[in-house]
Amino acid sequence: MIVLKFGGTSVGSLERVREAAAIAAAQPAPRAVIVSAASGVTNLLLEAGRQAASGDRGGMAATVATIVAKHQSILDGLPIGPDRTETANRITDLHTALELNLADVALAGEFSDRLSDRIVATGEKVMSLLMAATLRSNGEPAEAVFADRVIGTDARYGAARPDRERTREQAAAIVVPILEDGKTVVMTGFIGGAPDGTTTTLGRGGSDYSATLLGAALRADEVQIWTDVPGVLSADPRLVPDVREVAQLGFEEAQELAHFGAKVLHPRTIRPAVALDIPVRILSTFAPCEPGTLVTRESSNDYLKAVTVMKNLVLLTVDVPELEDLSGAAAAVFGALYQDRTEVVLAAQASSRRRMTYLIEGGHYGGCNRLCARLQEALDDYEVELGCTEDVAVLAAVGQGAADQTRALSRMLAVLQREGVPVLASNQQLSNVAMVAAVPQRFADRGLLAIHDEFIGSRPSGAKLRRQRRSRLLAEPVRVG
Ligand code: ADP
Ligand code: ASP
Ligand code: MG
Repeated sequence: MIVLKFGGTSVGSLERVREAAAIAAAQPAPRAVIVSAASGVTNLLLEAGRQAASGDRGGMAATVATIVAKHQSILDGLPIGPDRTETANRITDLHTALELNLADVALAGEFSDRLSDRIVATGEKVMSLLMAATLRSNGEPAEAVFADRVIGTDARYGAARPDRERTREQAAAIVVPILEDGKTVVMTGFIGGAPDGTTTTLGRGGSDYSATLLGAALRADEVQIWTDVPGVLSADPRLVPDVREVAQLGFEEAQELAHFGAKVLHPRTIRPAVALDIPVRILSTFAPCEPGTLVTRESSNDYLKAVTVMKNLVLLTVDVPELEDLSGAAAAVFGALYQDRTEVVLAAQASSRRRMTYLIEGGHYGGCNRLCARLQEALDDYEVELGCTEDVAVLAAVGQGAADQTRALSRMLAVLQREGVPVLASNQQLSNVAMVAAVPQRFADRGLLAIHDEFIGSRPSGAKLRRQRRSRLLAEPVRVG
C-alpha cells in the first residue's frame, strides 16, 4: 500500500495534473493519492475571505473569478462525456458553496478561523475531483474522498491537531472499502474534520502531514511526497545557489529540518511515520526518475546534511530573581503561549542566572509590545523582568552524529563570527541531531550561506559523485580478453 502526495506546483496546471496522474498510475495498487490545491489557489481563497470581510465586493468577485478560471482550465482537459459533466457539476457546487461562505463572511464583517477553514478547503476539494477524473480518463478507476470525513481532528480551526484513533476508524470505514474495490483513492490534503463534523485545516503546507496521517492509519508500506525539487536539498535552493541532494535522512534529522523551517516538509509530517516505521520518500514530479530522498529510522552517516533558516521569530527572555518562582513563572509563560496557540520554536533555561529564553513565532502578537503586555498579565503573580527582541531568525545545521562531533558547535559559531553575524543564542538539540543559532534576521541569509559553505559546500554531492564516477569509468582503458 503506497500513499502518494502531490503538492501545489505538481498539480498547478493541466499538464502537471496529467503528469501527476501518470506518476500515480505507475505505482502498484493499492494506492492512495493526496492532493494539495493547485499552486496559488489557497492564497487566493484567503485573499477572497479578507476582501469579503473588509467589504471589498468587487475585489472578492475578481479573486473568485481567477480561482474558477484556474479550475476550469484543468477541467477543460478532461475528455467530453458524462464523467466530465458529473465532475463539472460537483465543482460548480463547490464554487457555489464558496460564494455562500464568502457572503457569510461579508455579512459578519469578520473572517473567522472557522469560516476560513471551510473556505480554504475548496482548493483541495476541487483538486481531488479533478485528479480522480483525470485518472479515470486514463482508464484507472479512482474515487475522490474529502478528508473532513477521514482525518479526525480537534476543533482548533487553522491549526487542528489530529485524532489518530478516530482517523484510523474513519479510514477503515471510508477509504479501505474503496481500495478493496480496486480503485485509487484521491483524498484532499490539508483538511480534516472536527468532532462536530465541521471542516478544519492542519496549518499551511499541511498536505504532507495528511499523507503520513493517512499512511499511518492504513499502515502503508511507503509514503511518497512528490514536489518541485529532487528531494530534500542541503539548503533552500532559493537561498543557497550550490545545494546538494540529500539521498538519505533519519527520521530525527528530517524532523529537525522540518521543524526549523525546511519548507519541503510540513513540520509535523514525520511524526506519524515514526511509530510504524513507514519510509517516507521525497521525489520530484519534474524529474520522476531521480532517486530523491529516503527518510527511514536509520541515518546513513555522520556528516552535516542540511542547513535551514526560520525567520520572523521573537527572542523572549524572562529573568526570575527568586529561584522558587522559576517553575511557576515557566508554567505561566507556557500556559499563555499555549492559550494563544503560539509555537515555541526553542526554549532554554539557565538556572544559574534564573533566565528563561524562548524563541517563538511572533506573528500572533505583531511585535514585542503586545507580547510583553500579554505576558505581564500572565505573570502578574511573579516578580520578573522581560526582555524581547524582534526580527530574529534561527539557523539550524542538521546531521546525526555530525552535530555530536567535538567542536562542531564552536566551529559553527566561529564561522558566524568570521562573517560578522552576531549570535543571540545557541543550542545543541536532542540527540545532537541539530545545532542552532539565533541571529538578527538581517544577518540570516549571510549566516546560512557561510554555514553551508563551511560544512557542506566543499563536499561533492551524490549526483556530482555519480558524474565523477561515470567520467572515471569512461576514462578507464577498455580491457579486451
Ligand atoms: P509543495 O507545494 O510540493 O508542497 P513546497 O513549496 O511546500 O512544495 O515545498 C517545496 C519547496 O521547499 C522547494 O521548492 C524549496 O524552495 C523549498 N525548500 C526549502 N528548504 C528546502 C530543502 N532543504 N530542500 C528542498 N527544498 C527546500
Ligand atoms: N494548499 C495548502 C497550502 O497552500 C496545503 C498544502 O499545500 O500543503 O498551505
Ligand atoms: Mg508543501
